[in-house]
Amino acid sequence: LTQLYAPLNFLGFVYREIKHALADMERMFRLMDQHEEVADRPGARTLGARRAQIEFDQVDFGYTPQRQILFGVSFTIPEGGTVAVVGASGAGKSTLSRLLFRFYDVDGGAIRINGQDIRDLTQESLRRHIGIVPQDTVLFNDTIRYNIAYGNPQASQDEIERAAQAARIHDFIMALPEGYQTQVGERGLKLSGGEKQRVAIARTILKNPPILVFDEATSALDTRTERDIQDELERIARDRSTLIIAHRLSTIVNADEIIVLGKGRVLERGTHQALLQRDGRYARMWRMQQAGRQTG
Ligand code: ATP
Repeated sequence: LTQLYAPLNFLGFVYREIKHALADMERMFRLMDQHEEVADRPGARTLGARRAQIEFDQVDFGYTPQRQILFGVSFTIPEGGTVAVVGASGAGKSTLSRLLFRFYDVDGGAIRINGQDIRDLTQESLRRHIGIVPQDTVLFNDTIRYNIAYGNPQASQDEIERAAQAARIHDFIMALPEGYQTQVGERGLKLSGGEKQRVAIARTILKNPPILVFDEATSALDTRTERDIQDELERIARDRSTLIIAHRLSTIVNADEIIVLGKGRVLERGTHQALLQRDGRYARMWRMQQAGRQTG
């Protein structure tokens, strides 16, 4: 009987591992929006850039031919600069980051990095250059170490800890009984929204990409966490070309340019000061949020 047990045990192990891997893949697909991959062009070039200038040039896009989402959207993120996009829910803000990551191809116009159309680049090299801190970070059912190292699997423990320190999550991890080996995710330790975002920031610091996309969470974190995370992001955004999809205007007052998007069109654009002076939509949004802050 024991002879039978060993293989059965082994099979049980294999089954659990496969289930585990499938659960991760499932989450990954959900993360990637579940759709067909765009393909590399024959002869696609490898992007190899330390610094990046990003240009959205008259971008038209729809997820389906029946419904256009973006209409002639243009803006440029200068090398090391920051562009913030604001606008009502459904305006098309997150769609811009999906297009930059090339989950989809534009229908009209182009997105260029250092003058090269991203459709002419290999997806692998494009995505290596971009670090995304998403609205809602999905953690893998694995150790916290794995979750941080995900962006750079060759990273040493020392590098991982330095990234975690920079993201202000190292002390939290060290206070856990199993430290970096703590299992997180659905079947492990549940992390708060702010903690998950710090894991994503640590992951991005470790990946060290020249382009950063920060999709701000709609659900408000508590003010202190929000402030801390904001400081960390400002630090890692320095020297990187950054696209911020913002819900709280207080986080973008220093952006080089703010784009106000409405139903897929650029309604207003300029710096925070210029937009306040203009006294249009942005100024109204700003006043509303300021009033909310004082009463809330
Ligand atoms: P929010 O502030 O709520 O995150 P957003 O401005 O980021 O909104 P997007 O996520 O860019 O909005 O979505 C723009 C529009 O595209 C929405 O009307 C949405 O329903 C639609 N949309 C988003 N993803 C898909 C998809 N995968 N397939 C079809 N339509 C989609």
